[in-house]
Amino acid sequence: RQERFRRLRNKPAVTRDGVEISLNINAGLVFDLPHLDESGADGIGLFRTELQFMIASAFPRMSEQQQLYGKVLDGAGARPVTFRSLDIGGDKVLPYLTRAVAEENPAMGWRAIRLGLDRPALLRTQVRALLKAAAGRHLRLMFPMVSEVDEFRRGREIVERELRFLAGHGYEPPKKLQLGAMIEVPALLFELDELLEEVDFVSVGSNDLFQFMFAADRGNAMITDRFDPLAPSFLRALGTIAEKARHAGKGATLCGELAGRPLAAMALIGIGFRSISMTPASVGPVKAMVRALDVAALEAAMTPALARATDRSLRGLLEGFAHEHD
Ligand code: PEP
Ligand code: MG
Repeated sequence: RQERFRRLRNKPAVTRDGVEISLNINAGLVFDLPHLDESGADGIGLFRTELQFMIASAFPRMSEQQQLYGKVLDGAGARPVTFRSLDIGGDKVLPYLTRAVAEENPAMGWRAIRLGLDRPALLRTQVRALLKAAAGRHLRLMFPMVSEVDEFRRGREIVERELRFLAGHGYEPPKKLQLGAMIEVPALLFELDELLEEVDFVSVGSNDLFQFMFAADRGNAMITDRFDPLAPSFLRALGTIAEKARHAGKGATLCGELAGRPLAAMALIGIGFRSISMTPASVGPVKAMVRALDVAALEAAMTPALARATDRSLRGLLEGFAHEHD
């Protein structure tokens, strides 16, 4: 099996009926870069910048951040990299970052973009490091845990301010700059039209979005299998994102664990995603699924099942489809 996946490395991720799917990897350290070549992925769909902060004993200096981001861009070459601004908080604790109060529900607490907007010096430093590292190159940056469009706007203002600062000091800007929002908080689903007018792309953090939609802690073993991400409710939400993004002409990716499971990845393609990002080891198995897939037939099977849901999950239907079309 491993050998079979290795042989797929240089083959394109195109379905039997000619639909191209962009397969990307999630990464967070320099150590992850060789996985790009090994997996044959199209790019880095999620670079978790908080990892550098989590393994440090104090805030990494701007120069250290810039150095890491530069290495990542060098390693990726022509392949696009989507950096995510600091997603500290929740389960990702920084011992050297003090909080005013102990949080009872840290996953819903002072984390990610919320923390970045409240501690703008932190976010500005990171943004400056990213802009400098990407001088003359393509920079894609997204903000985590955006709950309302206004938070995205405020994040973008910080980026624009740093751009002006760097221009004033004679630095070369990125050749191309794209800003995105992660969709991880259900409230944003009801502000999608406005969001899509402002962003260059969206990326679904399905781990958090699922946790918040089902009110089911992603780390609690007692309920991990209680609800299924292939439930019609969740797939409808994801399908709406893919469809609205396509209408708006904006890119949409999904970068949670879901994307790395071949059956779930198949479902994501069936509801309209054409780009997903996953753990590197999943690229081979997912690419094998993609190359065997007939998207038109899958859509024909999924559309009625999603229009009028009779089962609590589409898992059975998808397994049946995969089996029949194998
Ligand atoms: C997610 O929530 O799906 C995601 C990609 O972000 P993280 O797992 O780092 O919270
Ligand atoms: Mg998340």
